[in-house]
Amino acid sequence: MDHLLDWFPDRLESWLGERRQPAYRAGQIRQWILRRRVDQFEQMTDLPKQLRSQLADQFFIWSSRLLSRQQADDGTEKLLLELADRERIECVLLRDDRHHRTACISTQVGCGMGCRFCASGLGGLVRNLSTGELLEQLLHLDRLLPAGERLTHIVVMGMGEPLANLDHLLAALAVATDSQGLGIGARRVTISTVGLPAGIVRLAEAGVQYHLAISLHAPDDALRNQLVPANRSVGIKAILEAADHYFQTTGRRITYEYVLIEGVNDQPCHARALAALLRGRKALVNLIPLNPVPELPYRTPAWAQVERFVQLLQTGGINVHVRYRKGDQIEAACGQLRRRTMETVSFGREGPKDSGEPIPTSHRQMACGTEKHTPGRTVQLSGQEAEGGSSGRNRFTSVT
Ligand code: SAH
Repeated sequence: MDHLLDWFPDRLESWLGERRQPAYRAGQIRQWILRRRVDQFEQMTDLPKQLRSQLADQFFIWSSRLLSRQQADDGTEKLLLELADRERIECVLLRDDRHHRTACISTQVGCGMGCRFCASGLGGLVRNLSTGELLEQLLHLDRLLPAGERLTHIVVMGMGEPLANLDHLLAALAVATDSQGLGIGARRVTISTVGLPAGIVRLAEAGVQYHLAISLHAPDDALRNQLVPANRSVGIKAILEAADHYFQTTGRRITYEYVLIEGVNDQPCHARALAALLRGRKALVNLIPLNPVPELPYRTPAWAQVERFVQLLQTGGINVHVRYRKGDQIEAACGQLRRRTMETVSFGREGPKDSGEPIPTSHRQMACGTEKHTPGRTVQLSGQEAEGGSSGRNRFTSVT
């Protein structure tokens, strides 16, 4: 038996051809599954009966099963899915009052990047998700919506590093953005990456219009090496060069994500250094006050500290948003729900790249000490300008 969603789109057409069926049947099948939310071949009433049973003999549509569904008061819903090999992943539906219906999906079981404040990486990487498993998350989330509603946006910000699973991700997004597929506009897809330069360049060359978000979290390599161990073999310079290439190739402004962690990367010196690093680039900084993870020692800064950080970035000429937290009641930080339920399952074959010790104070000082504030630079603007419009319309929310 094969996973039908792994076969979209061309391979299914050849399979149909071998059975003397016209290619348009592939479109019909896609319509039933992606648009009409049908789960069984038997229900695909415009297909010949014999074809329906041939399909049922060869394919399954779902390889995952819904283990739990949590809903927060703000409409955010989080699903825990169990895959065929009993691994578990999370995906989230975000609703807002602008009728955006955003799917947040995972790309890997676990994560190998080892970011020190992130729940997903605590057990290391288990495996990549297949194209079908990526699409299934979208289908599960789509089916939470009432008949008249559809998914409008995708954020690839769940568990895992998307650019480490780029082939499967591109295949799944091709179906998601196809007008014959889920019909979600490519410009409404955001891929969030830890910053793998080769992957960013590949994405730039892929001829797609996806929005790229880079998880920076620190203004210099000394601090970033501590917070994001994957940085040690890469460095901020190479990431920014790849990001500049992405912007030049696609014309799409890059978002830099920055998780604010109390006493670690939230000081005025960090804000000034970040502004200096990004000055002159068409960029948006998305500040994310840390979503605390119970196993980890890091804390969320006080609101006044966040405001000060915003103000300093704006003074430094940088567009900035603070990302609203959604779904706090439902353990919406990536990987949290999976971790809580995972005591009963085995996982984490490849350990995290770092010990998970708290960041030592000396590194905090080092980042501050190396940075010099340059007063008197031109102040360009405000945090009101963002992806295509005013701040109210533009903030995209995500579950972190
Ligand atoms: N590997 C991708 C996707 C990770 S999740 C990446 O690094 O971008 C999406 C975002 O959530 C990333 O910016 C990640 O650093 C952030 N994140 C992870 N754990 C978090 C936490 N506990 N609180 C706030 N943001 C977190």
